[in-house]
Amino acid sequence: MARVSYPYPYEAKVSQTLFDRASLVTPGGVNSPVRAFRAVGGTPRFMVSGTGPYLTDADGREYVDLVCSWGPMILGHAHPAVVEAIQAAVARGTSFGTPGEGEVALAEEIVARIEPVEQVRLVSSGTEATMSAIRLARGFTGRSKVVKFAGCYHGHVDALLAAAGSGLATFALPDTPGVTGAQAGDTIVLPYNDLDAVRAAFAAHPGEIACVITEAAPGNMGVVTPAEGFNQGLADVCRENGALYISDEVMTGFRTSRAGWYGVDGVKPDLMTFGKVMGGGFPAAAFGGRADVMGHLAPAGPVYQAGTLSGNPVATAAGLAQLRLLDQAAYETVDAVSAQIQGLVTDALAKEGVAHRLQTASNMFSVFFTDKPVRNYEDAKTQDAFRFNAFFHSMLSQGVYLPPSAFESWFVSTAHDEQAVERIAAALPAAARAAAQALPEGAA
Ligand code: PLP
Repeated sequence: MARVSYPYPYEAKVSQTLFDRASLVTPGGVNSPVRAFRAVGGTPRFMVSGTGPYLTDADGREYVDLVCSWGPMILGHAHPAVVEAIQAAVARGTSFGTPGEGEVALAEEIVARIEPVEQVRLVSSGTEATMSAIRLARGFTGRSKVVKFAGCYHGHVDALLAAAGSGLATFALPDTPGVTGAQAGDTIVLPYNDLDAVRAAFAAHPGEIACVITEAAPGNMGVVTPAEGFNQGLADVCRENGALYISDEVMTGFRTSRAGWYGVDGVKPDLMTFGKVMGGGFPAAAFGGRADVMGHLAPAGPVYQAGTLSGNPVATAAGLAQLRLLDQAAYETVDAVSAQIQGLVTDALAKEGVAHRLQTASNMFSVFFTDKPVRNYEDAKTQDAFRFNAFFHSMLSQGVYLPPSAFESWFVSTAHDEQAVERIAAALPAAARAAAQALPEGAA
């Protein structure tokens, strides 16, 4: 994709040098694609440190961070209590390949917070969590097909990297080279928020569907709130048909409330997946749920699943320290600052007459540059993403770091204080103006 140049007076010389070096030794210069700024153009910022709500890049510029490592840093960066727990754990040794007390404590914390989770297995990434949950669902039910929704991302699991087909119950085509038709062929991709499509899929494939997996409240096509009754409908349809309902809470878990999205809508899944916040900035993730289902996992049962670094003592110490600080007051703080920023963004865009929809899932939110409600991925794709790109670069040039794509959630933390919010407020008028004046790529 061509580099887009923006008329803002900022430079990122050191980041550019690092990006050039990285591009020689790493495909596309990054270790996870969205970091490369391909959607918005320009040079990705290489960050060197983070404190509270701020990040500092390699050129020495400071940003208010509205990405929070894509969710995990809900207490802000380098929270002293989390750092202390990590340092203490590191000093005791970094990996033993044996069971350890930290894993037990973290599992107990998850089980205590989230009632449908009777047992939990720790892994190292959200991708591993969803991959393992699907394997377990298939092993438990003896069925092969998986239902997912277009626009929901569950990590780079082969079977889940399938795009939307058109029409109901369309068998998915692989979304990427390297995923074979066979790997994606048991995946049924349906439009989000469409219960009739789910019922039709079960009717078309009686006794074949092992599970339905959904983001508890999607944040990976921008934030799309589940319609009233949608998640409960999924749970009911699964139960009626002997399939498992898997709620992917990798993004929403321990963020949207003490008990994640389950704490918001109370819909009981059979299996759930977690990551991000529960790792406190380290690679820790988990899947869990009904004890009779989890009991099918090795070594208790026949479904194999394992990991050299699963339940790593440093990662579990970081996660546990973070979760223990996340009490009701912490969620109220995050919710309040999120609402404040949402209001500022809406006001600024409205003042410039920019059509937009601000959508939320508790304290997660995103702005769609459209005047229509966004209920699914097809709706999301109709927004004027070029307006977001201009908005993004204006904010970046003024020291506010947004997700570098119009199709992502924004994240805040307990550390986003008055001063950070003021910096955002000060940047918004110019960014809203930039969005108003933006032209589609290729326009004169
Ligand atoms: N599930 C959801 C809902 C996610 O948002 C993500 C990552 O963004 C994943 C799964 C995959 O997690 P990871 O990137 O840790 O593999």
